[in-house]
Amino acid sequence: MNVFTCNGCDYQSMTAKYVCPKCRQGKFETREVSSKGTVYSFTDIHIAPAEFAGIAPYTVALVQLDEANVKVTTRMALGVQIGDCVELDRIEDGAFLYKGV
Ligand SMILES: [Zn+2]
Repeated sequence: MNVFTCNGCDYQSMTAKYVCPKCRQGKFETREVSSKGTVYSFTDIHIAPAEFAGIAPYTVALVQLDEANVKVTTRMALGVQIGDCVELDRIEDGAFLYKGV
């Protein structure tokens, strides 16, 4: 997956930005990093918004990537624990779906 890194201060982000929120400069480099990471925090969703009702229950997890200083919001099956090693399973409708390694 792609991570954008600021040339001015090494701020890293999953989304392209016009101006760095940290140093206010505007040059970003795209870097391809491994999708592997560690679960930083998570929430189990039992009652989902209408568009996700069909797949509930599920977990929304914040994953700290191994190769970048970035946390990714992901959707996972229930049973996740903080500290679990996880990786990208697939991307669905722009959402990152992760699974255990
Ligand atoms: Zn910066």
